[in-house]
Amino acid sequence: MGQTKTKTQNIILVTIDGFRWQELFNGADSSFLHNKQLVENTSKYEKRYWNDNLAERRKMLLPFIWNTVATQGQIYGNRTLGSFVNVKNPYWFSYPGYNEILTGFADERVNSNEFGPNPNTGVFEMMSKSPEFNGRIATFTSWDAFNDILNKKRSGLLVNSAFENMEGLKNASKLELLNDMQTALPDIFDGVRLDAVTFNIGFEYLKEKNPRILYLAFDETDDFAHGGKYNDYLNSAHYTDDFLKKLWDWVQQSPVYKDKTTLLVTCDHGRGEGPVGWKSHGSKTAHSDQTWFIAIGPDTPATGEMTNGQYFNNQYAKTMAALLGFDYKTPSPVGSAIDLVLGVKTVDNNFMSLHTQP
Ligand SMILES: [Zn+2]
Repeated sequence: MGQTKTKTQNIILVTIDGFRWQELFNGADSSFLHNKQLVENTSKYEKRYWNDNLAERRKMLLPFIWNTVATQGQIYGNRTLGSFVNVKNPYWFSYPGYNEILTGFADERVNSNEFGPNPNTGVFEMMSKSPEFNGRIATFTSWDAFNDILNKKRSGLLVNSAFENMEGLKNASKLELLNDMQTALPDIFDGVRLDAVTFNIGFEYLKEKNPRILYLAFDETDDFAHGGKYNDYLNSAHYTDDFLKKLWDWVQQSPVYKDKTTLLVTCDHGRGEGPVGWKSHGSKTAHSDQTWFIAIGPDTPATGEMTNGQYFNNQYAKTMAALLGFDYKTPSPVGSAIDLVLGVKTVDNNFMSLHTQP
């Protein structure tokens, strides 16, 4: 593709660990919601998340995605409609999944969550070497493994992970509270801080420092699912959707970001099926390579829920770079940029005219 000029000047990337496409597109699963082994107070959560109408039901779970992104952005991965997204790596768990998202290729060497410092230079590290992006990329993550995944020592990126305090903002009153709280809240998942803390620290940073690239990596959905707690898994997805709304509402009233910012949201892997398989993922758990992604921003045509095509998680790195006018290349072949997100290709059915530049 010849590099056309994009409107995007800033990227916000959000990952929701192990959140399934099944709940994204169908809302709460009735067979799980009524299962007293997965949901402690079934009537409470039926009231909160159940409606017989699928369109209403998924809005109850994810109102920002299904009210705002569905009408102004793109949502990929509804396999029942013929839209497919998968990971390329053969492992179907977190570190290989994040490596693929952030580097643009599946590295078979990266085969453990305890892999240690990432030997690969990802798109953020590479971009941070250019004067335009140097010091303008910030990452906030719930899981401490991101210190290795983003190779904090080598990359020089701002990586604020797990229980690390954030210092250095002028507007520090909220930050002090968050720093105090994060070690006083229950440490229910080993090495993982709660997503509300990650979100709020990252959001305070965004508002004051105006990074060109902000990455927020949330975790709770995966850990609650491993623990078989479906109501907590749904609650976590629900308030993560509200984090997205808060981000987007703020972006769209900020003179620095408004109409110049693309929000991308995805996950590192899928999960299995059924009330037992759902708790797990990995190459032994069927279909846990199935993922999804959403995009909303000034270059992305508002085609809503996508109904065909096959995409892979190795395409996001190049897509993010292309949105920012940066040509991302590595010695390993990286997944191609997604033309539909960039607005340089039309969709057959639901989108007629090419996105035009002013
Ligand atoms: Zn997991």
